[in-house]
Amino acid sequence: MMQFRDLNAQYMHLKAKIDARIQEVIQDSNFIFGAHVVDLEQKLANYVGRKYCISCANGTDALQLVLMAWGVGAEDAVFTSDFTFIASAGCASIVGATPVFVDIDPETFNIDPDALEKAIVRVLAEGKLKPKVIIPVDLFGLPADYPRIERIAQKYGLRVLEDSAQGLGGAIDSKQACSFGDAATTSFFPSKPLGCYGDGGAIFVDDEALDAQLRSLRAQGRSPHDKYDNCIVGMNSRLDTLQAAILLEKLYAFSSFELDAVIQVAEWYTSLLQGKVKTPSMPRGYRSSWAQYTLVLEDAAQRELVKRALANDGIPSMVYYPRGLHQQNVFRMMNLSDAQFPVTTRMTRCVLSLPMHPYLRQDEVQNVSTSLLRSLS
Ligand SMILES: *Cc1c(COP(=O)(O)O)cnc(C)c1O
Repeated sequence: MMQFRDLNAQYMHLKAKIDARIQEVIQDSNFIFGAHVVDLEQKLANYVGRKYCISCANGTDALQLVLMAWGVGAEDAVFTSDFTFIASAGCASIVGATPVFVDIDPETFNIDPDALEKAIVRVLAEGKLKPKVIIPVDLFGLPADYPRIERIAQKYGLRVLEDSAQGLGGAIDSKQACSFGDAATTSFFPSKPLGCYGDGGAIFVDDEALDAQLRSLRAQGRSPHDKYDNCIVGMNSRLDTLQAAILLEKLYAFSSFELDAVIQVAEWYTSLLQGKVKTPSMPRGYRSSWAQYTLVLEDAAQRELVKRALANDGIPSMVYYPRGLHQQNVFRMMNLSDAQFPVTTRMTRCVLSLPMHPYLRQDEVQNVSTSLLRSLS
């Protein structure tokens, strides 16, 4: 059976190098904050074009650490996309702030700047919460509309935190994902564009003081000068040396050929499916790292039919996401309705993501497309 994201094919390709790296770490036995961690942080910062990279335990902690560093808490409003993974909003709740969901653009699946501005104006008019942070999400690998979002942030005095857990490798013109806003975060969960062999995450910033504060916060709030003097309450959120060593090899593969390969796979899909079913659209000047290749079908019934037909041919497909955040049980006390989020609500019924990774062959893409088109005829 075909894999949705074939991590084993990748390992087989990189095996010698990854195995050697793992041996290196075990020989060194510097399992926490070893040299590989420092090396990886520098290479990642260079890759995305930002001054500082602070690695941490996962993409969820990365978001929370930034909100903690900015002192976001009770009475603060944090705006994020309604169509995303729970962590984009959970980070606000967990620091005591209130997440405010914003509907998406039907073409890009990303936060709709017009709806964002309306939500900020509404929160200001209500006068209960103070608008503090916008967390745009680079969904499925495609950067959000930062040129417009950053203008809105400036107009209303908000900070921007780019949730690029799915976005590493994307770009707008020559500006890389993880370089937008006041800070950016990513995840190295195995199935993300750059994944490790367990959990991992990173934060990217340009501000030296913020970098120092985040390094302290990820290590129990310890003072930069004295390991056993703690000035603030922090988290224990570290990237293991083993994961960093694996990521060094994977980053090399990602930047030298995997990103190009996955873009090629997307082009194969699009050329076979375009005009017959709604394929992903790409605004001019944007590059996606194709964390997902997501179609929009006509309705829930058609999606179910396609999903079943693919499964019958041994082809996995996934629904990202079956619920908007406004439909999550954990936020039921907000009493939000589907009518307030028409685009997200439609997408939860119609989207379907196809197998996607850099090691997919052209004949495999052909098979998926043939199976899919047959189910629609
Ligand atoms: C995966 C993901 C996260 C969380 O990353 P973890 O490493 O799993 O904690 C946050 N935001 C988005 C959009 C994600 O897809």
